[in-house]
Amino acid sequence: MTLPEQDMEQQREQMVSRQIEQRGLRDPAVLAAMRAVPREAFVSESHRQFAYDDGPLPIAEGQTISQPYVVALMVEMLHLKPQDRVLEIGTGSGYAAAVLSRIVAEVHTVERIEQLVDFARQNLSGLDYENVQVHHGDGSLGWPDQAPYDGIIVAAGGPKIPAALKKQLVIGGRLVMPVGSEQRAQRLVRLTRVEENEYDRENLSHVRFVPLIGQQAWEKENRKWLDFF
Ligand code: SAM
Repeated sequence: MTLPEQDMEQQREQMVSRQIEQRGLRDPAVLAAMRAVPREAFVSESHRQFAYDDGPLPIAEGQTISQPYVVALMVEMLHLKPQDRVLEIGTGSGYAAAVLSRIVAEVHTVERIEQLVDFARQNLSGLDYENVQVHHGDGSLGWPDQAPYDGIIVAAGGPKIPAALKKQLVIGGRLVMPVGSEQRAQRLVRLTRVEENEYDRENLSHVRFVPLIGQQAWEKENRKWLDFF
């Protein structure tokens, strides 16, 4: 192992203990996955040195790779099991999909920006993570071809939970999504499908995600926010 690789492993271990365990996350499968996936493989060369910083980082097209703690929190909120099948909306760099792939049997992830679809596929193939499929499309409509899913994670903020996503959950399945009436300020919401037409909703912590743009989401991006990052 070369020295920089060792250094990255140490930084990753510190990231998990300081940013994730010390903030109260406990699911052993989530902690193991966060320890296993090299976040530096999902950012550009110029951001590699910041890969284990406690925040989001820019990727192409004005988008971001989420803060490690927020990825771990959202994944833990899904209460996943090894045999589960999961849908992620907002592939971005592919990092969260990679984390999910270390916990469940199958991951489908949907990204609307083609350049990021290619970026994520490249990042994932470099690591041989074979149980992840990256799809190009409007994830506000879900990915009906492979539905239903045990868990759905939405990595971009919308004004409400898209009806299409609710219908693609198994009974007993959970969805986690940032929801808010502003494009860059939301609360994490967990929805559990308890019956065919009955859902339990819990409003959790405040978060700040890039907007979900699509037919069942925001119509277009509010450009003034692009200067925010
Ligand atoms: N999970 C990603 C990662 O680990 O790098 C970070 C996701 S980033 C915060 C949000 C992503 O959602 C962006 O890449 C954006 O292009 C994407 N997005 C926004 N609206 C979408 C939609 N309707 N369908 C699919 N992806 C969408």
